[in-house]
Amino acid sequence: MSEGVRTTNEVAWQQAWNDGKIFASSDDPSKPKFYCLEMYPYPSGKMHMGHVRNYSIGDAVARYKRMKGFNVLYPMGFDSFGMPAENAAIAEGGHPHDITEKNMASITEQIKRMGFSYDWERLVKSHDPNYYKWNQLFFTRFFKSGLAYREYAPVNWCEPCSTVLANEQVKAGRCWRCNGPVEQKDMSQWFIDITKYAQELLDGLDTINFPESVRLMQEDWLGRSEGVEIEFGIENSEDTIRVFTTRPDTLFGATFLTLAPEHPLAEKLVKGTEYESQWKAIYDKYANMSEFDRIKNLNKKEGVSLGCFAIHPLTQEKIPIWAGNFVLATYGTGAVMAVPGHDERDFEFAQKYGIAIKRVLVENEGDDPSDALEQAFTGNGYMVNSIKPGF
Ligand SMILES: [Zn+2]
Repeated sequence: MSEGVRTTNEVAWQQAWNDGKIFASSDDPSKPKFYCLEMYPYPSGKMHMGHVRNYSIGDAVARYKRMKGFNVLYPMGFDSFGMPAENAAIAEGGHPHDITEKNMASITEQIKRMGFSYDWERLVKSHDPNYYKWNQLFFTRFFKSGLAYREYAPVNWCEPCSTVLANEQVKAGRCWRCNGPVEQKDMSQWFIDITKYAQELLDGLDTINFPESVRLMQEDWLGRSEGVEIEFGIENSEDTIRVFTTRPDTLFGATFLTLAPEHPLAEKLVKGTEYESQWKAIYDKYANMSEFDRIKNLNKKEGVSLGCFAIHPLTQEKIPIWAGNFVLATYGTGAVMAVPGHDERDFEFAQKYGIAIKRVLVENEGDDPSDALEQAFTGNGYMVNSIKPGF
């Protein structure tokens, strides 16, 4: 088949689909409903192969469901607000609104040429007042019910571009646009208090078929909401360290504490000591790293001793205080009690740095607690080595 014939046929059929509105969805109570939604593209340029791959998958699903007798709602739209539109406008020179409209028109034409089966009558554009009035309505309601609040918090800031960058726009500590250094800067910004729903969202993860790595990342983002805060004293200091834990039953197994490198106490504890330079090294490496990169690198554990000791609240034993990259100042209290016998992350860290591992739970009643652990035992079990007179 020659190029000319193929093109003519495709265009003719696409026109026929369009004229016949065969992908338009309307109410039909006789069929089961199916809503097929993909991530909308940013209208910041032309389509690329990533779009073709992504939308081919959605199109295959939508067509399959139609053939299975579903009433399929398959809309298209544009995520046309924000940084990508601004960047495209800067790159091309022009008003963001005009550039956005122009890019949307060209991407729409390309998507139609691909023959995807969208219902174009349902097109949404996030920069359209008819769309964002609903965002505004939601925001106003969040605000009135105390769920939206304003606070100073660190953002990724690029000085050469004079702009805030999303975590995804910081590559190895540098700006994706100008490759300049990115610093963390405190700025006033709006927050939605989703942590109030952390437990509900965590429970919901059990009902979604996410890949394991995505689910774990979501859990890290959400954090645990059910747990207790425990206070540790510090040797030769009036300061205390508060930790949040979901496993107070393993408190007897805490053999060290880990602070976020940027925890204010970390700097205070090492100031003027021989440990200051190694703390500074880990601080410089991680404090300016975006949260996104920090979380992505959680599997590469790195830490330094701060050369001082916390006092275990039950046994009064001295346990070393460390700074570690896997603790973030913005999560919980910015400090964790490390129980290497019963937490995988702490186990790995303790093994790497030769810190004591203490077993305080056994799986079966009567198991020998002196058996060496090959990995952390993270389940519930019978308490051992947890006896303290009067406790
Ligand atoms: Zn920049």
